Amino acid sequence: MIPDTLETRLVKERPMACVTVCVPKDVVESLKAVAPRKGMSGHQARMQSFANSRSPRAQPSRTGWIPGGTGWLREARRVPSPNHDERPPLTAIELLVVHHISLPPGRFRGDAIERLFTNRLDPDSHPAFAPLRDLCVSAHFLIRRNGGLLQFVDTDRRAWHAGVSSFAGRERCNDFSIGVELEGDGVHRFTAAQYRALRRLLGRLRERYPLRSVAGHSDIAPGRKHDPGPRFDWPRLLRARQANGMESAKRKGVAGCLSAT
Ligand SMILES: [Zn+2]
Repeated sequence: MIPDTLETRLVKERPMACVTVCVPKDVVESLKAVAPRKGMSGHQARMQSFANSRSPRAQPSRTGWIPGGTGWLREARRVPSPNHDERPPLTAIELLVVHHISLPPGRFRGDAIERLFTNRLDPDSHPAFAPLRDLCVSAHFLIRRNGGLLQFVDTDRRAWHAGVSSFAGRERCNDFSIGVELEGDGVHRFTAAQYRALRRLLGRLRERYPLRSVAGHSDIAPGRKHDPGPRFDWPRLLRARQANGMESAKRKGVAGCLSAT
């Protein structure tokens, strides 16, 4: 049987951007419900959503996500950061980047990480904070040592976690990635609760985005960054059901980043 299709002619500001695509009717109906974001036309919002729904793994059920088409996860504690901006149009979100952070370094608990990501960290309150003065950074998520999940940035938006980076020949990893910080220092093992929370988060993200790869910050910015470090148990993440089918330099036993292989 030939599935219902709808021919959609997309004419944007620039005539050269005109393309024709065939989209299943049920997808068209779901796209109509996508709310445009600030600075984005309704058409752009729908096409962004479509770009991120092309994964064959994408499921219609998005119960873990707050309704309204936003990329806020229901189960995460929401701590909105101003440090984000628009992703490039029609960019599929295909990469998960794992980081670690502790503030001050080696000290867990406290609210310094939240303060850093929301531009409220007093650089004079600890000697280790001085280099962070005027730094505007963020990640989409933070997983605390007890597995608690915090969200700073709408996952449809671009968080500022990767910096100068490259993955599989593509630069500016912030454009097409989700950034997850694990509270850690590179010395202590990450906790079982953190691995559980990360696996669960990965499953949620794959409901919504066509994530194909997972990498450490050190993989996409080798020499410049060293997190999540040797204490992060990659096989423990990669053998999880939620990581099935995902590519990783770690899975292939390759040291360094995919772009170098
Ligand atoms: Zn990092």
